[in-house]
Amino acid sequence: MGHPTINKNLTKQDTAKHNLNNYEEIRGDFSWDKISRKIDWFDNEHINIAHVAIDSHLKTERKNKKAMIWESKKGAVEEYTFADMARLTNKFANVLVNEAGIVKGDRVFFFLERVPEIYISILGTLKAGGVIGPLFSAFGPEAVKDRMFDSRAKVLVTSPSLKKKIAEILPELPCLEKIIIVNRGNDSVDAGDISYEKAIEDASEQFDIVKTHKEDYAIMHYTSGTTGKPKGAVHVHQAVIGHYATAKYVLDLQENDMYWCTADPGWVTGTSYGIFGPWSNGITQAIYEGGFSTKKWYSFIERNKVTVWYTAPTAVRMLMKSGEEVPKEYCFDSLRYMCSVGEPLNPEAVFWGEKVFGMPFHDNWWQTETGAIMIANYPVQDVKPGSMGRPFPGIYPGILDDQFNELPAGVEGNLAVKPGWPSMFRTYWEKEELYQSCFKNGWYITGDKAQKDEDGYFWFVGRADDVINTAGHLVGPFEVESVLIEHPAVAEAGVIGKPDPIVMEVIKAFVSLKVGHEPSEELMHDIKKFVTKRLSSVASPREIEFIPSLPKTRSGKIMRRLLKAKELGLPLGDTSTLEDD
Ligand code: AMP
Repeated sequence: MGHPTINKNLTKQDTAKHNLNNYEEIRGDFSWDKISRKIDWFDNEHINIAHVAIDSHLKTERKNKKAMIWESKKGAVEEYTFADMARLTNKFANVLVNEAGIVKGDRVFFFLERVPEIYISILGTLKAGGVIGPLFSAFGPEAVKDRMFDSRAKVLVTSPSLKKKIAEILPELPCLEKIIIVNRGNDSVDAGDISYEKAIEDASEQFDIVKTHKEDYAIMHYTSGTTGKPKGAVHVHQAVIGHYATAKYVLDLQENDMYWCTADPGWVTGTSYGIFGPWSNGITQAIYEGGFSTKKWYSFIERNKVTVWYTAPTAVRMLMKSGEEVPKEYCFDSLRYMCSVGEPLNPEAVFWGEKVFGMPFHDNWWQTETGAIMIANYPVQDVKPGSMGRPFPGIYPGILDDQFNELPAGVEGNLAVKPGWPSMFRTYWEKEELYQSCFKNGWYITGDKAQKDEDGYFWFVGRADDVINTAGHLVGPFEVESVLIEHPAVAEAGVIGKPDPIVMEVIKAFVSLKVGHEPSEELMHDIKKFVTKRLSSVASPREIEFIPSLPKTRSGKIMRRLLKAKELGLPLGDTSTLEDD
């Protein structure tokens, strides 16, 4: 297809021995069964992610190796060995069982900043046989309520300030029995709540990890679709085989690496590759509490001597925006490998990596539902900038037409994957029909459009639906529209993704007002604030355009396609189903 290629020899440590040293050979010889034998099972049928990630290392020299070097926003540093993590996660599991009455299969949700306690409590919950549901700390009350109500979560682990933020919705969660407050030094918690610090201090260090079955539910991440509320993609304990294998062969994690994943545990990248992948490989992680900041990120890499860095295209483009002079103030000699995920990585960003860090960013593709990386660029393979790379060994993706038959190379179609890998989602929580509808003709249909070239590299084209990808976060237009029309001035709302050079898409809302309300800057600001408060800053429209009425089908459905075509100056396509004025 005439796409440029960065030669593999341009990676920084071209003599380094990579875990995946021969793509064809490893792919040809790969079996999930074989790789699963490299991790510690209780027996043929039973496995627990937290045991694999933490306790399995206690039998090895890794026992006193650092698992986590955590740095706060203010620069305080805390270090935890695998033995520390084992002890603390045991304690947390005891707290859950003894004080919150958690039994196998109960849902425990986490609404916390990126503090050490989120890692400890997630792993402790898995030890106790609970199902984890991490929530992004920027969520507003509505977003938290939707997810916790739907999952019927029994326990919430949060902080005093985040609890305050969602106080109004807590009485609307009938299944919520206990709140555990992580207060990092401040002792008082509301009556009835459990103080994390106090409970951990009192709890026993001994805990018999629940011997979960390989197909027992372990992880829930809510993800947005075109219609309806977000749905909970559910993963099982043996998903860790996929996390382990892909962290090893795609992220190339090796014993002495210092690995940094910039994703928050509220999103799937932050659990699969910010917890389970690296720790199942016994790798030390450097974790930064704060969000994006060019200088803080550069100095974090320098100070912690990060060797492998996994980040997102929006972050790369934001770094690019701050220019090539700033990075010259830092030393990046430790870095040996860089990857990115979440949205298309444009070729300029790949080349910029080469220029500034001496190596390209390696793009890879996957989604909440797949649980682990499916398509990737590898250290020993040529990088074709703009391509997501080639299938992971053991993964068989294809491009299908709309009748779900496979298409040849060079033709655009639906990106699908042959089902059956360990980290594949097992259901959408209590939406089995919706789950089943994702499988057609023996394929899992991903909802993305892509094409494959003659060399087997996959190229992302776009989403097949209206879901918006803003800074790597999927936002369902329906969710935003539902909140918009709750604003007292709004009559109707239609939401689209508008292309943006940095964050891929920004959210644009078209709004018609109720009688008695007039468009104004002030109202626009107020509506944006309303969505931020209810859902999150991620879901709040960057742009709002007031229009007298929205284009609708005769059945009353808002035609987002038409709004988008008008916005982008594209042909309007078939408008025959459009409502008459
Ligand atoms: P999520 O389930 O929130 O992780 O989002 C998954 C979606 O993000 C995919 O279905 C794609 O639409 C998009 N995505 C993830 N990785 C890539 C990538 N490397 N290139 C293009 N789009 C991506």
